Formats: sequence, structure tokens, C-alpha cells
Amino acid sequence: MNMKDFGMTKAEVEETAKKYLNEQFPRFDFIAEKAKGMYIYDEEGNAYLDFLGGIAVNAAGHCNERVSKYVKQQIDEMVHSSNYCYTLPQIMLAKLICETIKMDKIQFQNSGAEANEAAIKLARKYGVDNFGPERFKIVTALNSFHGRTLGTLAATGQPDSAIQKGFAPLVEGFKYAEFNNLEAFKEAATDDVIAIMVEPVQGEGGVYPADKDFLVGLRKLCDEKNMLLIFDEVQTGWGRTGDIMGYMTYGVKPDIITMAKAMGGGMPIGAMCSTEKIMNTFGPGAHGTTFGGNPVCCAAAYAQIEELLEKKLPENAKETGAYFRERAKELPHVKEIRGIGQITGIEFDVPIANELKYTCAEKKYLLMTAVRPAVVRLVPPLIATKEDCDKAIEIMKETIVEITESK
Ligand SMILES: *Cc1c(COP(=O)(O)O)cnc(C)c1O
Repeated sequence: MNMKDFGMTKAEVEETAKKYLNEQFPRFDFIAEKAKGMYIYDEEGNAYLDFLGGIAVNAAGHCNERVSKYVKQQIDEMVHSSNYCYTLPQIMLAKLICETIKMDKIQFQNSGAEANEAAIKLARKYGVDNFGPERFKIVTALNSFHGRTLGTLAATGQPDSAIQKGFAPLVEGFKYAEFNNLEAFKEAATDDVIAIMVEPVQGEGGVYPADKDFLVGLRKLCDEKNMLLIFDEVQTGWGRTGDIMGYMTYGVKPDIITMAKAMGGGMPIGAMCSTEKIMNTFGPGAHGTTFGGNPVCCAAAYAQIEELLEKKLPENAKETGAYFRERAKELPHVKEIRGIGQITGIEFDVPIANELKYTCAEKKYLLMTAVRPAVVRLVPPLIATKEDCDKAIEIMKETIVEITESK
């Protein structure tokens, strides 16, 4: 629904937003009215090349035809029924996901934070049920991001950040160790630890891919000490890394996987998957949700995943992402380029990330930042072509020169 549906001007929209919304960050100076493929269209019909991708969400492109079709059909047939009823979108999506990512069982949630919350609860109960009440701790990585619920913000290894500050006392039972430092994780893995949870690529933290040896080492450590390995694939899952799941890119299989972002084609859905043995820990009443597995969201996710698989979008992400990083070397003020598949972090030698984000938006190109002031994060839809990358690079190049020369 747009301005004309409400009979409003752009100024009135902005004024109403300022009056009533509690804002997390400044908005771009346009109203997003429509979107298709790689583009978002504003109130005047201007097209914005979208390398923000709804924050790594719109993997099969905006308003993907298959996603729209399945959602429309489901919305006319039934919007919600509760998890007391069998519903086909949920059951068939469970089968599709478990078979595709080679996991036994799935429990649907509504977001990434909730999926991680479920994983944390599952690991804790597994520890307590199997090893006694002292074994409930989870080691996570410094510079990680796992969400903003009380549990997941405590799991997020960013002490003293705005994510944690002011929310004390934090949920107990988390320990942090340096990412990509196997020795640090070994040291942290004391007898009261039941699980290790990491992102295969730290996204929000500034795009730091794990080293393969690190993840292989964590797998071995978990096997030796009867600990569970949890991969938070909320951002890396469903094609982003160039494979269906980040764990496949690394060839290291976790015991528990969480997912959300790209999974639902833009509809809010998340999930936690595990083996049958571990998942059995959640007996009746242990964990539930009213909306999780909602048929409209599941229909969207079913379409999204079919689309990712049939159009081989993970492969495209691998090829196009590598091309993008190669071309990004031409940008001025580059200090380091990190990434894998279609998640790229560009670190500059000047803290221009925020200004670059808003100035590029004025030039009709959207990109993301991370927690670091000198790092931009590019997480475009996986349909992005080399031509899209060329265009993105040209706009960034011109904008970086403008910004840095005006200082
Ligand atoms: C975005 C993100 C989350 C949180 O997901 P929400 O859907 O915003 O709750 C958790 N973990 C990772 C790795 C993420 O990128």
C-alpha cells in the first residue's frame, strides 16, 4: 500500500514516521513503494540497485514470481490455523529442508533470534538431561552476533556494545573466545560447557569468514568432549556462501543449525534443525511458538528454496561474489576485502562506512554497514549479475572519492 492509498504527501509520511516510530537508525530519504529483482522503486519510480538485499533476505530477488504465487495461493486458502493442525506447507517445507541440508528434524520459529534462542535452549536441556545440572554453558565467539532477545544478546560476544549495554544482568551461561583461534576455544571448553556456537562467517561483526582449520578443529573438539557444535546460519544459510549452507562450503557438519533471513523470500520465518537424538530432548511442552511454521510463511519459504535450488543461485553467488571482490580492489582507500560467495566486507582506511551508505543511497545504490565504522557489507540478492556488480563498483568509486576529497 502506498501514499495514494492513504492520500498522503511524502512530507506527511516523513512527519508521521518521525512522530510515531521509535527509530533504530536514520532512514534513507525515500519511500520504498515497489521492488522487483535487484531493484527497489521509490515514490517517484526511481530504481535503486539493492546490494543490501533486505539485510541478506531477498536472496531469490525482490517479488520473486514463484514466491509471490505460492504466497497468494496460500493467503486465499488459509492464513493461519495453529500447530494443532497438519498443514501441507509446513510439512512439505520440513521435508524439503531436512532432505536438502541433511538434518533429521526441524522446528520452525519466526526469526533469527528465535531460532538461536531455540538452539540455546535445546543445547542446555541436552546438557542437563544427559550430564547433570552443572553442564549448561555455551562458548561463543568474540565479535559474533546472534540476535537481540535476552538470551541471544548474552550469546553475542560484544561486551560493552550497544547490543549489551544497559541490559544487565545478562543471561548466565555464556563464555566468549576469540574467533578463528582454536586454542582459545579449547581453553574455554571446560567440563561445564555443553556447546560451541559460531557463525561460519561473522556477518554483523564486519564480515570475517571462519578459517577452515578452525571449524574442523571445533568439530574435533566437540566430538572429543561430547559437546554440541551449533552453527548460526541465519545470515550464511540458503546460498549466501556459494553453497546451500555455509557448513557445506566448509565441509564441517554441525549438530544444530539455525536459519532465518534468506529462507522465507522476505516473509518472517526462522528454524532450528538437528539430529533426531538431540531434538528428542525437546519433549512435549519444552519449546513452542504460536506463529512458527505459519502456512503463508512456509509457502513462501518452500517457493524460495525451490527457486534457489532450481536456478542454481548458490553457484551464481559463488561466481559473482568472487568477481565483485576482484573488482572491489579498484576502489580507493581499500584496506582489506573479505568475503565468500555473495557476502563481502570492504574495510577502508578511513571510517566512511556510514556516510558511504547514505550518500550511495542518494545515488540510487543501497549497501549495508556492520558494527565497524570503516566496513561496508554487501549482501545482495543471489541473482546479482556481473553487470550489477560493475554498476555497484562504479557508484562506490565515485562516492568514495567525493566523500574523502571533501574532508
Ligand atoms: C540477523 C542475524 C541474527 C538475528 O536475526 P533476526 O531475524 O534479526 O532476529 C542472528 N544471527 C545472525 C548471524 C544474523 O545475521
